[in-house]
Amino acid sequence: MVPRSSAACQTPAWRQDLLEAYRDADDLLAKLCLTRREIPDLDCDPPVLRMLVPRGFADLMKPRDPHDPLLRQVLPLASERCRIAGFSQDPVDDESANRGDGLLRKYEGRALMLVTGACAIHCRYCFRRHFPYSALGAAGPRTSAALARIAADRQITELILSGGDPLMVDDQPLAELVERLEGIAHLKGLRIHSRLPVVLPRRVTRDLCDLLGASRFKVLVVIHANHPDELGGAAETALLRLRGAGVHLLNQSVLLRGINDTAEILRALSERLFDCGTLPYYLHQLDPVEGAAHFEVSDAYALQLMHALRSQVPGYLVPRLVREIPGADSKIPLLG
Ligand SMILES: *Cc1c(COP(=O)(O)O)cnc(C)c1O
Ligand code: SF4
Repeated sequence: MVPRSSAACQTPAWRQDLLEAYRDADDLLAKLCLTRREIPDLDCDPPVLRMLVPRGFADLMKPRDPHDPLLRQVLPLASERCRIAGFSQDPVDDESANRGDGLLRKYEGRALMLVTGACAIHCRYCFRRHFPYSALGAAGPRTSAALARIAADRQITELILSGGDPLMVDDQPLAELVERLEGIAHLKGLRIHSRLPVVLPRRVTRDLCDLLGASRFKVLVVIHANHPDELGGAAETALLRLRGAGVHLLNQSVLLRGINDTAEILRALSERLFDCGTLPYYLHQLDPVEGAAHFEVSDAYALQLMHALRSQVPGYLVPRLVREIPGADSKIPLLG
């Protein structure tokens, strides 16, 4: 008989949060006291990437504001259906970097594992919005193939767990994955790219902190927040708990028109991140993915913003403005 502890049988709280997430635009608008008249461009049945918004994230939106920067990141719009020259389905050429086991090997020393295609929130600008996860993802049986490839390649010294969102995997299978990675002697670093500490803070369980804190890796968690309003009290608690467990925290953002394209907002984001024990890492120029053209900010304007930001905050609160170019051997910094 396997003893059944009550904790093991319970659905974790964050899974419950996920079940209760908004999946219907009208429900979300009703919560915010908005009507379709105020969002004439709403797309109630988007052909790619259905709407998904955790309740806690929606609670951080301002009611009655159709331009709320959190709402605009997640609300499907008809303009996503526009085909624009230069915007493609695989803008960063992940498909050719993936050999079928979900391991992306683009840069020296680092490999990126697509652990799952699932996310807790669907961001409309997502560069992987068209990615064929079911065909190429590493989840399940492909994980062994990916692990074998890492074990066979001594040049890989840092592994990045990504997705989708790698923290969508439960603590137990995640612990097993980390354990198998720890068994690969030439791996020195483990990095986790996740938006969950921000959009589903209850995912940062005690077990997760214990797991990451006890690892032989100096674990780095790179979160994803674009606007200071995303970092509410629950996210702050979750992040400080990770810090308390000895996890290093960085943030990456995407520069998005109408959402975080002012120096004031970027400054407030950096300062809020610092409150949460997190330093800014990358500010990404939008990857030209089909359906996201309305979020684009020009390079010239992005550089102006960076100049203004640098003059307002200490250097450690200035993210690196970068763009991903297919075939390049790193993210490309935009300097000006
Ligand atoms: C972004 C990325 C990395 C990490 O790059 P850093 O500059 O080290 O943060 C690694 N692999 C792939 C495939 C990536 O897209
Ligand atoms: S959380 Fe990340 S991977 Fe998931 S939809 Fe948003 S940007 Fe894309």
